[in-house]
Amino acid sequence: MIRVTATTICGTDVHIAKGEYPVRPGLIPGHEPVGVIEALGPGLEDELTIGQRVIVGAITPCGQCFYCLNAAHAQCGGALGGWRFGNTINGAWAEYLLVPHARANLAVVPAGLTTNRS
Ligand SMILES: [Zn+2]
Ligand SMILES: [Zn+2]
Repeated sequence: MIRVTATTICGTDVHIAKGEYPVRPGLIPGHEPVGVIEALGPGLEDELTIGQRVIVGAITPCGQCFYCLNAAHAQCGGALGGWRFGNTINGAWAEYLLVPHARANLAVVPAGLTTNRS
């Protein structure tokens, strides 16, 4: 789970807001977050650390299904199944975000690279 420190408005979010792309009703939108790790799921302690700044992919594939193993990560589990945030699960326009398949979908932000808020 990350505490979101920056996120964006993507053109896809505009299409969703206009009703041009149907998503599951009631979901929090947003799929381009940067944040700080607040909690780690089981098995991640050796790779990630609470407090690390991370960027999360808009597409969060499992990395293990037929589609992922054949380099079709956006199609994880089926058509566009890799796009989860704001489509099939709550997205990044929130204080906290639960990142699915975190091992495959987090990258540590290098020290010295700031989050531009201006
Ligand atoms: Zn987008
Ligand atoms: Zn997959």
